[in-house]
Amino acid sequence: MAGEPQADCLFCKIVAGEVPATVVRETETTLAFRDINPQAPTHILVIPKVHHPDAASLAAAEPKIAADVLREAGEVAAEEKSESYRIVFNTGSGAGQTVFHAHAHVLGGRGLQWPPG
Ligand code: AMP
Ligand code: ZN
Repeated sequence: MAGEPQADCLFCKIVAGEVPATVVRETETTLAFRDINPQAPTHILVIPKVHHPDAASLAAAEPKIAADVLREAGEVAAEEKSESYRIVFNTGSGAGQTVFHAHAHVLGGRGLQWPPG
């Protein structure tokens, strides 16, 4: 069922505490932790605790939680003292999505090129 934990999902396992992560913030609905393979000095993932495969699916099913993810992305950037930062939602394998549990990448701490690759 949509939103239920998925046994084969890495981020559901992180939410359940079955896989360790460097958690920087937690709310009732979200978890923020450091990316294991950082692409910038600040590279934090903000995820909903509920399982949805990508950001748009999350927003369609749970708009309040999608907003929670965005708000937490801003809180994480503020805690990292990143005045300028980028929020990225890779969607689909062709765009680089490898974990099919919605997540925001919060990237900062260095100059970020535009347009992205
Ligand atoms: P994406 O490629 O957009 O699906 O993003 C998935 C991200 O998860 C990548 O940036 C990975 O480096 C990151 N990642 C994979 N495994 C872990 C883990 N165990 N803890 C933290 N980040 C992870
Ligand atoms: Zn999941």
